[in-house]
Amino acid sequence: MSQRVRVRFAPSPTGPLHIGGVRTALFNYLFAKKHGGDFILRIEDTDQNRYVEGAEEYIINALNWCGLKFDEGPGLQGDFGPYRQSERKHLYKQYAEELIRNGKAYYAFDTAEQLDFHRKNHEANGKTFIYNWHNRLKLDNSLSLTPEEVQKRLDSGEDYVVRFLTAPDKKLHLKDIVRGTIEIDTNVLDDKVLFKGDGMPTYHLANIVDDHLMQITHVIRGEEWLPSLALHQQLYDAFGWNTPEFAHLPLIMKPVGKGKLSKRDGEKMGFPVFPLSWKESQGYREAGYFPEAVVNFLALLGWNPGTEKEIFSLGELVHSFSLERVNKSGARFDPDKTKWYNQQYLQNKANDELGELYAEILKKKSISIATKPKGYVEKVVALIKERAVFVADFWDLSDYFFVAPTSYNEKAAKKQWKEGTPDILNHLVSILEEISDFSSENVETIVKKWIGEQELSFGKVMPPLRLVIVGDMKGPHLFDIIAMIGKEDSIARIQKAILHLA
Ligand code: GLU
Repeated sequence: MSQRVRVRFAPSPTGPLHIGGVRTALFNYLFAKKHGGDFILRIEDTDQNRYVEGAEEYIINALNWCGLKFDEGPGLQGDFGPYRQSERKHLYKQYAEELIRNGKAYYAFDTAEQLDFHRKNHEANGKTFIYNWHNRLKLDNSLSLTPEEVQKRLDSGEDYVVRFLTAPDKKLHLKDIVRGTIEIDTNVLDDKVLFKGDGMPTYHLANIVDDHLMQITHVIRGEEWLPSLALHQQLYDAFGWNTPEFAHLPLIMKPVGKGKLSKRDGEKMGFPVFPLSWKESQGYREAGYFPEAVVNFLALLGWNPGTEKEIFSLGELVHSFSLERVNKSGARFDPDKTKWYNQQYLQNKANDELGELYAEILKKKSISIATKPKGYVEKVVALIKERAVFVADFWDLSDYFFVAPTSYNEKAAKKQWKEGTPDILNHLVSILEEISDFSSENVETIVKKWIGEQELSFGKVMPPLRLVIVGDMKGPHLFDIIAMIGKEDSIARIQKAILHLA
């Protein structure tokens, strides 16, 4: 690749970014960085009717959260700005006019009512109305009207659009990196609207003009844009511009059944479809996912590394990524796998980092750790994180490290609490009271020795002891817990339970 690689992510600010959109941004980012190129964010906001307040900010926040830093875009300096199409409005008209001058496009004056009439008429005869070579000479446009009439209408301010003049009887050979060459017969295409009388371009014109002016070398976007490729290719040809390379990414499919993953699927099955929360929809961030985990699972939706490796940092993805390894077929979304990814990332995170995150949760729960020794939360995390998928799981897995149980698992109590249990535990208290080195190993050695001397079975001591310390039969190695909560607290818990369970 001799030319500097420049790719763009070009969302329309019509709402929050779906994770499919994040995946598109990610693949653009990976490709750019792999080739030492530029990743550009361009906001395609020409359709004012669909503009949603806050959507652009959301898109930028989502990219930032995922660590997909763009090199050029709104709010950043760049040689190819502005990066919002609404701020480039003045640019597009001349290009529409250039096409008209060169006989590649034409003015059309058909009103919405007229078009509707033709549509209904065709439907009544079991046909579909397509504005193209079939009928364009019979419709209300600059191909069927005299130049004087056209000028008159334009001068009088009559509403118009500019349509692309699709050349008939041509076979287009469209190239796509993912799909290979696609042949299209131009006779099936319609004359798409490029520009509207209100001075605004449509997506197609603005997109091509901007990709050209911004020197985009590769267009990487979702499969839903594949049907537009024929028009886009013809536009590049009509302008006499170099065509960028195209790669259309496979759709992200529903976890079950057919079709594209939708917001409804997430609502039905209880998983996020947005990176960040948007109104009442919870995002991955708020659901407790690490951005690295989200990036990792998105990368493997539609791309395969060609090995069994599943865990990739962003840097590793950049290194391994190639468009040749993007799959043609849709990628089924698996919500369980997203959790698995988060779990993997959580296990690999340093305990001090997790401890800090957990400390925030504890603070919100008004759990004071002021009296605990330094590094206490971190140690708790080390003991319990193995069973956690999210940091938010920590509390249920470790509450007893911070507060004494106020109730005891009934089923376990029935099974473990025998007639002789209070005597055994009372005796144990007197043993614990004598221990000065309260480390896990030392307490374990002494207690086990005492069990042996008393000719007690482990089953008579350990399960009830766990029940009174934890309130349940869960948790890591019991002596680790006892050592962590300390002598005083351990004894207090045993004594309290004896009263409570009597
Ligand atoms: N604005 C289009 C979108 O919202 C961009 C499509 C493209 O990348 O060409 O997805």
